[in-house]
Amino acid sequence: MDFDFTAEQQAIKDTADRFARDKLAPSYAARERARCIDRALVHEMGALGLIAPELPADLGGLGTDGVTAGIVVESVSAADLNVGYVCVLGSLVGMVLAGHARREVAQRLVPEISEGRQIVALGLTEPRGGSDASGLALSARRDGDAYVLNGEKTSISLVTQADSILVFARTGQPEQRARGVSAFLVPLAAKGISRTALDDIGSAAVGRGSVFFDDVRVDAEALVGGEGAGFYQVMNGFDYSRALIGLQVLAPAQASLEETWKYTTERQAFGQPIARFQGVTEPLAEAETLLKAARLLCYNTLWLRDKGRPHTAEAAMCKWWAPKTAFEVAHRCLLTHGHYGYTRDLPHQQRMRDILGLMIGDGTEQIQKMIIARERIGRVAVPY
Ligand SMILES: Cc1cc2nc3c(=O)[nH]c(=O)nc-3n(C[C@H](O)[C@H](O)[C@H](O)COP(=O)(O)OP(=O)(O)OC[C@H]3O[C@@H](n4cnc5c(N)ncnc54)[C@H](O)[C@@H]3O)c2cc1C
Repeated sequence: MDFDFTAEQQAIKDTADRFARDKLAPSYAARERARCIDRALVHEMGALGLIAPELPADLGGLGTDGVTAGIVVESVSAADLNVGYVCVLGSLVGMVLAGHARREVAQRLVPEISEGRQIVALGLTEPRGGSDASGLALSARRDGDAYVLNGEKTSISLVTQADSILVFARTGQPEQRARGVSAFLVPLAAKGISRTALDDIGSAAVGRGSVFFDDVRVDAEALVGGEGAGFYQVMNGFDYSRALIGLQVLAPAQASLEETWKYTTERQAFGQPIARFQGVTEPLAEAETLLKAARLLCYNTLWLRDKGRPHTAEAAMCKWWAPKTAFEVAHRCLLTHGHYGYTRDLPHQQRMRDILGLMIGDGTEQIQKMIIARERIGRVAVPY
């Protein structure tokens, strides 16, 4: 086994680390107050190759492997998990469009994603629930050469800032469940669309919200993949994005941990550095161990993907375990800073709130464990 990054991977990591340190870290808290991500920053990331580098070179990407995409997500998210959403969503949506959109649509849009000129949100969740994703109700009715969309999506990341949405709608009957679901690429400026933002406790810069479709007419070119095939296409993509999300949440927790180790050597209690007290250092040593193990799981999952090997169970492991571990580590770091940790002056509280969202987003812990069980013992482990 070779755990080293290649020279190319190290070079892109150096670029991402520099950009994260100089351009993202100083304004992490300011972006939360502004409740948006400055588009100029997104353009700059695109120009540096930091958005979905694994997209094919003939569609504007760098044609790297998934491990390299993970390296970028990790570096960016160490400074700002919220900007990491642009990378993860770019990878997930970009790969779905590259693989399944009509060629002319992919040729137009995918380069714009990697250049940071186009943010495409992903719309699966509806007000009636997200875990039972294949039970979605937003309808897409065929009308000649067009489709007419009606209904509501909610809890959509970046929706207040996105230019378009890859939305999942029912073209078949409810009893067909996943087989009656199709994917459409819809500009968010289309007639009949309105959006509202949710008042979230974290990741305010991401702007999660709802989209309402009121007789939104799209031509057949908007259909991504085959009619009735949309659900399976995005579910495959989740096996990829879940490993990326793991790195997205572990990186800020690692940043908190590094700051906390330093603090333990500086802060004095009972006339000595608090690092002398094993009650202080043992939880941090434990955190170091857990972060390292979870990070290896994420990179191993991306490596399996790059080799074309099954990795659905591993991706689900990343998705439930990494956010839980990251949240607990950030929490421990906050507590180790005593009363200072409880202020907004230090980033641990913001990191904790941001990480918390990804304990839910992209599927909860229970759903991931159900996927792992299904991979081990088959469909007996799922409700339908
Ligand atoms: C920060 C954030 C970002 C998000 N971004 C997006 C996005 O970009 N696009 C998008 O489409 N969605 C997004 N979501 C929505 C997210 O995917 C859903 O919230 C998630 O899938 C859970 O759905 P729900 O909230 O409706 O919970 P429900 O499905 O109502 O579940 C409620 C609770 O019941 C549990 N539960 C449900 N079914 C079972 C079961 N069979 N066994 C055991 N437990 C069960 C769940 O684990 C959960 O704890 C985001 C959510 C958050 C918080």
